[in-house]
Amino acid sequence: MQDFVYNSLPVKVIFGSGTLNRVAGEMAARGVSRALVLSTPQQEDTARDLAAILGKLCAGVFFGAAMHTPVSVTEAAIAVLREVDADCLVALGGGSTTGLGKALALRTDLPQIVIPTSYAGSEATPILGQTEAGKKTTLRSEKVLPEVIIYDVTLTLGLPVALSVTSGMNAIAHAVEALYAVDGNPVTSLLAEQGIAAIARALPVIVKVPGNITARGEALFGAWACGTCLGTVGMALHHKLCHALGGSYDLPHAETHTVVLPHVMAFNAKAAPDAAARVARAIARANAATGLYDLPAALGAAMSLRELGLPESALDAVAEAATSSPYPNPRPVTTADVRNILQNAYDGRKPD
Ligand code: NAD
Repeated sequence: MQDFVYNSLPVKVIFGSGTLNRVAGEMAARGVSRALVLSTPQQEDTARDLAAILGKLCAGVFFGAAMHTPVSVTEAAIAVLREVDADCLVALGGGSTTGLGKALALRTDLPQIVIPTSYAGSEATPILGQTEAGKKTTLRSEKVLPEVIIYDVTLTLGLPVALSVTSGMNAIAHAVEALYAVDGNPVTSLLAEQGIAAIARALPVIVKVPGNITARGEALFGAWACGTCLGTVGMALHHKLCHALGGSYDLPHAETHTVVLPHVMAFNAKAAPDAAARVARAIARANAATGLYDLPAALGAAMSLRELGLPESALDAVAEAATSSPYPNPRPVTTADVRNILQNAYDGRKPD
């Protein structure tokens, strides 16, 4: 028997295809009528379609969301929010857009409806990472947890294949760390294994047929499951390393998770044998670490930090940063250990 504490998060989830038209009803249910619609510049067209669906319920738009939630972007969005007198936030996009919505909710307490279009899973967490002066800091607060998540599988059909793979691995990383989290519990672990398996099954199909709606649905369900895991338990070494890399060197988020994950799994496997066994089972491979390398590598993902543009000279500083204020981890971590993990990830070496 495992003693545990499980905290469920108060968020309404609507999952399906063609669910975009549910936004107006969810706004009405919350007594709000002036949405600020958020997206990145790359998804402006889809966000404009949403604004058109909302009609008078859309008070304004802001299409400037950016990776790692720069505080300067949040401040620009706040100015628009005040100007149009918005009373709620509707974020359509990947983790960057969700992050902007959360950063605005933190500062204004406005309710959020999030429509995720990648597999980052941020919508299901009360976590916000923000970047200022080249440093990424994260906070946990129910103020940033969206009130409603509307998953519309049709919006993910056009998620580029390469990003589908790495974003799926980003989601898997949340669930892997949940399986050995210091506050892990059987409820979260069930969801973690299910989420990992769903994404691992879906990605090879998506690579072959990007418009396969069944696989897209499975991947998006997996993203919700894995994001929920991240939302309910704490993070460990893998997320610490990715935050240090992403915030300071502006590396692409999902791609960085994809490269680092197998190496942290290899490092933690002996200290967390049950988690390693569950990961291996979920991805249908004999070994968790090599399986987490082979899955994205076979689907064309870059597997080295070198390919992502990190200078090798940065490895010492990242190792220091990642160990100066560590997250709990199943295996004790030294700066030398992290430096070794980083070198393997830099070289893209397959774990033994
Ligand atoms: P992203 O949101 O930056 O998306 C990458 C690009 O793909 C963007 O240009 C985006 O507009 C585009 N895109 C997204 N969905 C698309 C679709 N369906 N079709 C076409 N284009 C699409 O990247 P991401 O990997 O989704 O999110 C990364 C960000 O999320 C990082 O800032 C990271 O810190 C954050 N994140 C936060 C949490 C959390 O819990 N706080 C969890 C995971 C990720």
